[in-house]
Amino acid sequence: MKKAVRTMSLILTFALAAAVIWVIWQRIGPRLEDLPASAVTPKPLDPAFVRLKPRETATLPLATRFDMPLGSEHGALTYNARGFRIERHLGDDLNGIGGENSDLGDPVYAAGAGRVIYAGVPSADWGKMILIAHRLPEGDELGPVVQTMYAHLESIQVRTGKNVRRGEVIGTVGTAPSANFAHLHFEVRVGPQVNPGQGYADTALNRVSPEKFIEARRGAQAAVLNPAPQKD
Ligand SMILES: [Zn+2]
Repeated sequence: MKKAVRTMSLILTFALAAAVIWVIWQRIGPRLEDLPASAVTPKPLDPAFVRLKPRETATLPLATRFDMPLGSEHGALTYNARGFRIERHLGDDLNGIGGENSDLGDPVYAAGAGRVIYAGVPSADWGKMILIAHRLPEGDELGPVVQTMYAHLESIQVRTGKNVRRGEVIGTVGTAPSANFAHLHFEVRVGPQVNPGQGYADTALNRVSPEKFIEARRGAQAAVLNPAPQKD
């Protein structure tokens, strides 16, 4: 009996203490309406502030060679419909030589060994997009990390976080939401910022010419390759 009374008084004491704390908190605690609107509105992720951490950069696959992401390793059977820095364009628009939508659904290859750091649909204009981060060999003027970007895809065949080999199929060519025919918008970006970004700007931002970048890093130069067979 005594034990029950003691337990009851203990519970009552706790309840009373909780009630007192609750009343005080109601008087002096912050009220929702007192907080600035920015503190209670959920913020969308601002990709401009996402960047690879040094540890992530250090563990990226080393890319010792790069190839074109469409057609053959040297980009045969493709053409560049709109090059880097033409009409404020920040990448290359790669097409199959058949023109129009002949390249729709063609495989898109990882330009070099790397890790997928983004695979999704950042906006209706971009459609499906993949970003791959590559670690460059020591001494490369653009190192330690560059990214290759592939946009307007019809399909994405890799997940964020996956390590890819050079030449691995990562998706397929799709159409841009604007009335353009199917093509691959391809960019090379310098640095660890992870941001879907924009395709046009007055300055180059952190982009470099994809064609020149690959030309300088694809192993044997075109001049030392076996010549094409000659016609009689
Ligand atoms: Zn483009």
